[in-house]
Order: sequence, then structure tokens, then C-alpha cells
Amino acid sequence: MGYDFTQQYIDGAWVDSTSGAFIDVENPATLERFAKVPQGSKEDIDLAVAAARRALPQWSQVPLSERVEMMKSMLAHFKASESTVVDLLVKELGAPIAFARTKHFGFQSVRVQSYIDLVQTIEFEQKFAHSTVYREPIGVIACVTPWNYPIGQVVQKIVPAVLTGNTVVLKPSQHTPLSVYLMIEAFEKAGFPKGVVNLVSGKGSELGDYLTTHPGVDMLSFTGSTRVGKLLAQSALGSLKRISLELGGKSPFVWLPGIEDYRPAVRKLFESIFMNTGQTCTALSRLIVPRSELAAVEAVLKEEAARYTVGPTFDESTMIGPLSSRAQFEKVKSYIELGLREGARLILGEVPANSDQGYYVKPCIFTDVTNDMRIAQEEIFGPVLCVIAYDTVDEAVAIANDTIYGLSAAVWAPCKNEAKRIARQIRAGNVYVNDGPRDVSAPFGGMKESGLGREAGVAGLLEFTEYQAIFDDVA
Ligand code: NAD
Repeated sequence: MGYDFTQQYIDGAWVDSTSGAFIDVENPATLERFAKVPQGSKEDIDLAVAAARRALPQWSQVPLSERVEMMKSMLAHFKASESTVVDLLVKELGAPIAFARTKHFGFQSVRVQSYIDLVQTIEFEQKFAHSTVYREPIGVIACVTPWNYPIGQVVQKIVPAVLTGNTVVLKPSQHTPLSVYLMIEAFEKAGFPKGVVNLVSGKGSELGDYLTTHPGVDMLSFTGSTRVGKLLAQSALGSLKRISLELGGKSPFVWLPGIEDYRPAVRKLFESIFMNTGQTCTALSRLIVPRSELAAVEAVLKEEAARYTVGPTFDESTMIGPLSSRAQFEKVKSYIELGLREGARLILGEVPANSDQGYYVKPCIFTDVTNDMRIAQEEIFGPVLCVIAYDTVDEAVAIANDTIYGLSAAVWAPCKNEAKRIARQIRAGNVYVNDGPRDVSAPFGGMKESGLGREAGVAGLLEFTEYQAIFDDVA
């Protein structure tokens, strides 16, 4: 691969960590420890935050048109690094190469371009009868991201934050820290002033709290589990930092009665629950089906699942790779065992035997699930689908909403309007209706314990700003 990840990016330079220690990065498909990154220290965080603070006054005054031009250049440099980034994503996450190329890499360019386009539509200054109201950058943003979409989660934070005049300190997940280096390098090549973007790699348990409570930080932008999000948010609230949280989910797919062709609905469902080996925050992990159609739906689920090949990550035809780590493997395995103990019935898949040949788990489908089971309530974060039967549509909606989460959902019906009517009754930040595609210009984020605030679209840009009203006109 010929790439060096042994330094961090602070104040416009690649520097050693003061810790002198490193974290190994493992390929979950081969169990090979193939790279290492610095185990960042609290001193590194101090240096990065100080750099971001120093850069802030000037960066926040740079005209939007210049920020936009730099971001376009960043995108061009990032696109040019495709083959290296895809290679790293396959190795650090265990993403199948075709999926790494399209969703983990290609889709991120669409996102960056969307932010570039939309930021130019925002009125950062509005005149009212006796005042001018400005949208001001919040300041120094601590960005803490998870491992499941290593580039995607970073893009959702640092691109809108920097475009709106903030400076950032990024701490990506220690499990997938490599591909992010190429994005930071693209910022460097694009000529962003020193201190605007800083990267500190390291363990969340050691650095996360220190970074998010740091007196030099104005906002915490966190993506990860609901458990850690709540902990960090509580700490950050100590000094009333602005907080944005993108957290977990247990998203429902509501299947309304009378669908003629089951296959498109099943494919939409599997795209969500099986791709990325089920490690997607928005994974539609609960299928809620009419009891009268249960057997017929189960038959099509089994048939269609055969298309989802599990295999080596560098094989172009592989659709499902390994889980991302031993911890993930153990967690998903224990949930499959739990499902059997809770009385659910596996119609596809099995308890994985061991992980000597990579952290592989075949797709699993549990039926006879009731919504009070733990496998229906807790985020498994693997390719495990729970099928839950209902008798009336009101009951289906109640089951869909009977969760602490509210990130995503889908409704499929013979008639799109009916699906849309039901979609409006579901307490989730994003709801897919039939085969409706994802729209990156719409706000993304969760209701209930799935988060606070929104990413993507204009809302995702304004998340990094706050109002300042200047009372300037005497009537
Ligand atoms: P995680 O909460 O364990 O870790 C997220 C980040 O927090 C990492 O950078 C990690 O190093 C850090 N961290 C971990 N423990 C910490 C602690 N005690 N103190 C401070 N920082 C800590 O989550 P994960 O396992 O990396 O990611 C999976 C989770 O992320 C799932 O719950 C998934 O639903 C969620 N997620 C949500 C979205 C969304 O947009 N809503 C997107 C992707 C992932």
C-alpha cells in the first residue's frame, strides 16, 4: 500500500503523537494487523484545539465563495485518491470491494457536492424591521465519529462545519482510522489554512471525554452509539457546549396488506439490513408483516436472501463481508443465541461457529418475533432481521413506534399515497415510502433516543451556526 499513518495532522503539519504509542489496525477478513496509527494523547488534543482556536478568527471571515472554491478543490483531490481509499476501506472495515467503491467512496462525493451547492443558497444575513440577523459559525467543533462508515460520518461533520466558517478537531474511530487520512490529505492539498482541520487518532475511552469537555471546544458533533452519545453529551453540557448527536436505531419496515409483487419490497429491505453486513445505523432490522401473509413473505425472504453472497472482501461479486471486529462478532453471535433462547425461530442463518477465518456471520432471519423481545428492541448491528406479525394496520404502526429509537423507517404499500399516510404516523427522522430513493439534500437524523439535531442538507449546514441579532435600525 505504501502509505504512512504514523503521524497526526495538527496545525497544518503531519506530526508525531506525544504519546509515542500506536494502535494496530486489523483486517477483519484476514485477522492480519496490517497498519498502525498513533495512540493520540491529551497533549495532542490540547495542541489540536489550540490550533483550531488560533485559526478560527481568520477562517470565519474568509468569504463563502473562497471557502466553496477550496472545498471543490478538496473534493477533486479526494476523488483522485479513489483506488487507495477503496483499498483501505476494504482492509480496515472488511467492506466488500464493490460496496466500498459505490457507497463508502462514490456516495461521499455526492454528499460533499450537495453541501457545496446548498451552502450557496443560505441567507447568512437577514434584514428585519429593526435588526440584522446573522448566522455565525459556532467556533471550534469536536467531531467524534464511529467505524461503520469511516468516510461518510466524517464528511457529514467536517465538510458542513468548515464551509460555514468553523474549525474542527476530528477524532475518528480507532477501529477504522486509515481512509480518513486521505480525506485530511485532500484538505491539505486544497490549501485550507493551517489549523482549520485537525486530526487526532486515538481511543474514544481515553480521549473522547477530554476532547468534548475541553474549554477550547464550542460544540460536540458526535456520531456513535446511544450509550456513548448520552455520556459525552452530559459531559459537554457542563459548559453548555452546542451538541449534535447521531445515534443508534432499530428501524421498522412496515409491510402493508395486499402488495402484489413481493420482490421489490424484499430487495429494498435487504439492501438496508444486509449491506455493510448490517452495520448501518438506519438498518431496517424489524420487518412488520400482516399475519395473513406471513408464510408467503417468509418464503420470498428465503428465496431472495440467496442472492446475498458472503465471501472474500476483494472479490467483486461479494455482497456481504465480515463484521468489522472481534467485538462485533461476539456481540452479533450473542444476539443470535439470545434470539433462539427468547423463542424466535431462525428461518435463515445460524449461530456462527468461530472467527478463526475472519469475523464472518451469515445473514440471519428470525421469525415468530414479538416486539417485546430483546432482539426486537436492542440494536444488534449485524445482518440479523426480526420478522414480527400484526393483525391490524393500527397495530403495525404501534409496533413500529414501540422503540426508544426513531432514526429511520420504511413503509411499503400497494398504493404509494397510503404508504405516505402511514409514514407520517411513524416517529422517525427519515421514512422511505415504497421504492423512494435517499435524498442527500434532505435533513438526516433521529427522533427520540436516536439523536439530537440533523446532518445533511441546509439543516445539516445550519447545525454548525448560531444566530446573532444586531439591533441596528432606529424606527
Ligand atoms: P461508539 O459509540 O462505540 O463509538 C463512537 C465514537 O465514540 C468512536 O470514535 C469511539 O472511539 C468514541 N468512544 C467510544 N467510547 C467512548 C467513551 N467511553 N468516551 C468517549 N468516546 C468514546 O459507536 P461505534 O461502535 O463506533 O459505532 C456504532 C454505533 O454508531 C451504532 O450504535 C450506530 O447506530 C451508530 N451510528 C449512528 C449513525 C447516525 O447517523 N445516526 C451513523 C453511524 C453509526
